[in-house]
Amino acid sequence: MAQRGTRGTLGVAVIGTGRMGADHVRRIQEVTSGARVTAVVDIDAERAKAVAARVDGCTAYTDPAVAMAAADVDAVLVASPGPAHEAALLAAFARDLPVLCEKPLTPDAASALRVLEAERQLGRRRVQVGFMRRYDAEYMKLEQLLRTGQLGRPLLLHHRHRNVASPSGWTSDMLINDSVVHEMDVTRWLLGQEITAVTVLRPTPSVNAPDGLQDPQFVLFETDGGAVADVEIFVNCGFGYQVRAEVVCERGTARVGDGHAMVTHMAGRWGGTIAQDYLERFASAYDREVQAWVDATRRGEVTGPGAWDGYAAAAVCEAGVRALTEGGRVGVDLEERPALYR
Ligand code: NAD
Repeated sequence: MAQRGTRGTLGVAVIGTGRMGADHVRRIQEVTSGARVTAVVDIDAERAKAVAARVDGCTAYTDPAVAMAAADVDAVLVASPGPAHEAALLAAFARDLPVLCEKPLTPDAASALRVLEAERQLGRRRVQVGFMRRYDAEYMKLEQLLRTGQLGRPLLLHHRHRNVASPSGWTSDMLINDSVVHEMDVTRWLLGQEITAVTVLRPTPSVNAPDGLQDPQFVLFETDGGAVADVEIFVNCGFGYQVRAEVVCERGTARVGDGHAMVTHMAGRWGGTIAQDYLERFASAYDREVQAWVDATRRGEVTGPGAWDGYAAAAVCEAGVRALTEGGRVGVDLEERPALYR
């Protein structure tokens, strides 16, 4: 059996084997060093068995708590839907297991606070939250540049977030809770500031948006450092998955996400390709995120975005959904940040 906090191979239980979970299983097996998948869990037993069958020495379970009790499980990767996260996190805390929890930490601020309180009672951080943009090479460069102070104080942040088409059943609040949540985290992280208020403007929906879906939306954040960020979220743009950010500072600007990795010239035109989804656009970021989690866990540490970041994003999401449905500018209510997260 692997030992946490040593150089032994980490045995990971992956909870939820849908789109993200199955991709993380593949990643841990094929890309990540220092870890292997020893358990997969899904309430859909057949799905769990099918994923387990592709991995040597991996057992399929339907109950997360039973998997976490297995002798070969040292750490947990939660990739079930958001409403299932709180129970999985509390079960992991009960066994003092380190967790990488896909975003959201939980779907609302009250449940996120319960998780925060449970982790605080353990007396040390146990959770890394899956805000993978913090591990994207371009975003990392942008964050490092801002930290040097060369550009001066950040004044404005412009985000663009576009998807080819929304999954069936998507509702207008999901654009805030599932998509813009990434810009909430990136804004807080890049600026080192908390978001204090949200406003959502609602342009006439695209003809390509399913009936009743408010798409696109234009979201504004104000921060406690006096910066303003805007987010265009457009989840039925039709042409590709695009995520861009530009920071406007007192002495210059910096932009990421132009996607100019390769430019071709052919038949009188020039151009490149556009990623079609997040698994493609952020493939290296997910790889780096999971490797960072495994490395830190094997050192007995927790790094990266944590439960406080998950809670803060949940609180901003709540304000964002109110701004979307009720209109106007909605303030964000944040509890005082506990010492564990300072
Ligand atoms: P999905 O619907 O494809 O898969 C979810 C899986 O979890 C399903 O197989 C389902 O049967 C299983 N499940 C449901 N309840 C469960 C429970 N209580 N215990 C165990 N398994 C359970 O969803 P997805 O797109 O893979 O999303 C999973 C998580 O990843 C969500 O939290 C989502 O927000 C997040 N996500 C993150 C990113 C990112 O870029 N970081 C992108 C997409 C999704």
